[in-house]
Amino acid sequence: MATVYRCAECRADLNLSTAHLFPPDAYFEAGNKGTLSFSWVDDSKLRFSKEDKIRPFFETVNYWGIQRKRTRIQCDSCGRLLGYVYDDGPPLMRGNGQLGFGPSQAIPRCPRYRFKTKALAVATS
Ligand SMILES: [Zn+2]
Repeated sequence: MATVYRCAECRADLNLSTAHLFPPDAYFEAGNKGTLSFSWVDDSKLRFSKEDKIRPFFETVNYWGIQRKRTRIQCDSCGRLLGYVYDDGPPLMRGNGQLGFGPSQAIPRCPRYRFKTKALAVATS
């Protein structure tokens, strides 16, 4: 059984894999409601564009700010907005994680490719 994720607009196969899907109960600072998050995507099927808005945003108690820098994810075939790239994935750990990050230093995090569930047509075959 394979799950195929298609663009809800044009039905293009986005080549997303459940192998890269974060579990539905995974914790993210910006939340995960009504969305599916992947740790890897096929960038030949998608279009990315920077969004740089200076506008206050409040997503959750822990995820807010004044300037929002996000990357839009759009379907490469029809241009429909599918979701956004967030930077609140799991911490990037190399080796044993003892690379000398001081306590005040932000831990680099994996990107999270967050898709709106409504923008995807999910089918199993
Ligand atoms: Zn499309």
